[in-house]
Amino acid sequence: MEEAKQLFKKLKIYSLLDLALIVPSSYNDTTLSTSLELGKVLTLEAKVVESSVYAGKLRVVFNLPKFNRRLSSTFFRVTPYHHKLFEVGSSLVIQGKLEEYKGYLQMSQPKSIKTVGKITPKYKTVLKESEISSLMEAYINEQNLYAEGLDSNEVSTLMRLHFPKTLNEVYEGNSLKSTIVDVLKFVEAFNHLKKLRGKREDFPAINALTGDIKPFIDALPFKLTKEQNEVIEQIKLDLATDEKASKRMVVGDVGSGKTMVILASVMMALPHKSILMAPTSLLALQLYEEACKHLPKSVSVALVMQGKNRGDYLEADFIIGTHALLFKDDLPQASLVMVDEQHRFGTKQRQALETLVSSGDKELKKPHFLQFSATPIPRTQAMMQSELVDVSLITTTPFDREVLTQTVGKTDFPDMLSHIKDEIAQNHQVLIVYPLVEQSSEIPYQSLEESRDYWEGKFENVSVTHGKDKNKEEVLFDFRENGDILLATTVIEVGISLPRLTLIVIVGAERLGLATLHQLRGRVGRNGLKSWCYLFSNSSKNFRLEQFCKTTNGFDIAKLDLKFRDSGDILDGTIQSGQKFKWLDMSEDDEVVAYAKGRI
Ligand code: ADP
Ligand code: MG
Repeated sequence: MEEAKQLFKKLKIYSLLDLALIVPSSYNDTTLSTSLELGKVLTLEAKVVESSVYAGKLRVVFNLPKFNRRLSSTFFRVTPYHHKLFEVGSSLVIQGKLEEYKGYLQMSQPKSIKTVGKITPKYKTVLKESEISSLMEAYINEQNLYAEGLDSNEVSTLMRLHFPKTLNEVYEGNSLKSTIVDVLKFVEAFNHLKKLRGKREDFPAINALTGDIKPFIDALPFKLTKEQNEVIEQIKLDLATDEKASKRMVVGDVGSGKTMVILASVMMALPHKSILMAPTSLLALQLYEEACKHLPKSVSVALVMQGKNRGDYLEADFIIGTHALLFKDDLPQASLVMVDEQHRFGTKQRQALETLVSSGDKELKKPHFLQFSATPIPRTQAMMQSELVDVSLITTTPFDREVLTQTVGKTDFPDMLSHIKDEIAQNHQVLIVYPLVEQSSEIPYQSLEESRDYWEGKFENVSVTHGKDKNKEEVLFDFRENGDILLATTVIEVGISLPRLTLIVIVGAERLGLATLHQLRGRVGRNGLKSWCYLFSNSSKNFRLEQFCKTTNGFDIAKLDLKFRDSGDILDGTIQSGQKFKWLDMSEDDEVVAYAKGRI
């Protein structure tokens, strides 16, 4: 047992199903061969008819009684063992690759087989062959597999895979049978979900929140979308109880209207307090302004940022802030805690906020916790993730954004330039994204600094930010009011909406993951103005970019991103390295995951 534990550790596996999912890379079949197929590993009955040493090598000639043919073999490192084994007149079973040389059958250094008629799986792992096969023999049996919750078909399929009676049961041509692959997909999803399910920990909530959202909804200048309403209803159910503090993640594309969901939740929390953390002060300010604009005047709102506050956060119903919130030790107890643009915080910061506001006398009670993310994830991943937190998806936007996406190259530059001039003439704005700040020999595109002079020479109001510079927020603010062209790099996180931005050029687009391209493209056309996204690339045809041009839906793009995950031209490493599955296709196998969820 102790030994097995060590081996599990070496394999980095934690469950019986992890072990069952280690699939044999091949099998050693000692069933006697029924035909003499050249080039194949065969197992043959053989009788030694000649045995001679020549130049240090042992040459043995066998007779194959079943086929009435002769076969010769040469052994290079000869020991007394060989002489004894291959004594003239002895009969044995040999195994090796059959070859032919000038009409003579040959087998180079065949093995002598003791147990005939056995199929032994071979596993490629860090363990010795004997170690892994003893683990499989000890643990992979019907009883254990049933105990994991598998059904009879799944159990018998896995048994067949690890201990086949014939190889026809396993392979179809050179690949695993599709019925086996189907079971492996399921077991992979099932195993992963089972592990997640054990991890969710729930606490009672500080308060049940049942405030009326009607005054807020009725005063809105627009109707909420179907999905906004659905999410609000889900949150209502979550918050209405104090038995369990809710943990929910609302995932919706940029512009899908998540702020309204945040504000509705604040209404539900009344008369108790809500806190919202945002990743940048610009975004915090924007949220503050929206809250003041849309919430009834009776709701008091405060803003907490480094150095500058607005309103009295000690008294406010709704406190909005940046991570400066984490350093306030007199932050009042909130019954609802929210994080906007969750994907831009580290796990630590999110947890810090949650624990910060739940400290105090009622130790085991927690505030309801809602997170908002603009990184669309495929449905499969949402289903998996919902084992840890509840997940709501907003897959539509209130108004159709018209963003025409196009790949362009050097020869298109003059046309693009005149388009840029047109947009600026209409009081619109342009964003140009460069792959790097400084020149680099590794990247076949101009850098921000190399191009800067060009744009500044041609246009009047050019703003520049490297994305990480200290005064980035000021530059953005100034650009929003007075700029025509903004030059930036891919690291730029534009937290504020730039309503006049209608054209974005992404230089070296083929180097970026689709998720990044989607985030960048999401900057234009925020207010329904017709917009353009030019993907500037040296390579004339790029299938991935062409697919990207065809859709603006972030959820479709998340799916595409999974499909192209291994694509060689993505160098920025921005593709989120999610759980890797060997058999399960996260972009396609929704049904398998849904079924597995029902089974755990
Ligand atoms: P997100 O935070 O999901 O990126 P926002 O909440 O900032 O999106 O909403 C984007 C824009 O859409 C805002 O200007 C907002 O006022 C507007 N908006 C939100 N919901 C609706 C709706 N149901 N109908 C029309 N406009 C809406
Ligand atoms: Mg938002």
